[in-house]
Amino acid sequence: MRGGLEKPSPPNARLFSSPRQGLSPPPDSRGSVDAALHAYEKLAERFGPQHWWPAESRFEVIVGALLMQQTTWRNVATAIANLKRAGLLSPTRIANASIPELRRHLRIAGLYRSKPQRLKRFCQRLMDFGGDLDGFFRRDVRLVREDLLAQEGVGPETADSILLYASDTPTFLVDAYTVRIARRLGWIATDTYEEVKAWFEARLPRDLRLYREYHALLVAHGKEICRPRPRCAVCPLNDTCAYYRTGRP
Ligand code: SF4
Repeated sequence: MRGGLEKPSPPNARLFSSPRQGLSPPPDSRGSVDAALHAYEKLAERFGPQHWWPAESRFEVIVGALLMQQTTWRNVATAIANLKRAGLLSPTRIANASIPELRRHLRIAGLYRSKPQRLKRFCQRLMDFGGDLDGFFRRDVRLVREDLLAQEGVGPETADSILLYASDTPTFLVDAYTVRIARRLGWIATDTYEEVKAWFEARLPRDLRLYREYHALLVAHGKEICRPRPRCAVCPLNDTCAYYRTGRP
């Protein structure tokens, strides 16, 4: 998620199940597929099923994604619990709530001036669809992504978080962990979001559960092993890593 390297780590299997059965690479990019899938297999073996995103509903995923900037998942979870306790966790309720009331509940998530405004505006946009998430998402995916990106405070990472985890859209989600790991492995030489995303999407089967799980595994890897000071000696990917071989980032 944008704005920090804190991600929800405790898994919740209620929304998502485990991927990796019956996957086959796209026939036109088989050579490169091997590296990306090889890494996936190794990470899955090392970290096990991740089952993101921890949330009880699709709307909760959206609220979490919108609140994640520059804070920790723990604070976001508390803010969501506040909204829930106050009976505000729905598009209609948030769209109709006053900013001071939203601020009271969301203060812990930081950016207390902008986040309540953004959340309210987003919910007002959902109200153009009667507050119906199916209606919002039941459009061409490019249109939905553009719509998300047009919302204040929503960048590509937040938009793809929402698409991937709240609307069942297989779109590869890139974050700072993804970039760090992929650069060190020698897969990419860019930090540009759309280029990194395109690299993965060109090399992986377009599979929702794979994309969800891969993102979560990269976060786990980035937090535990491929840290700013990487623990290469215990890394399951060190047999193919450019950084490990050359010592150069
Ligand atoms: S070998 Fe080191 S640099 Fe390469 S992916 Fe593993 S931890 Fe990161």
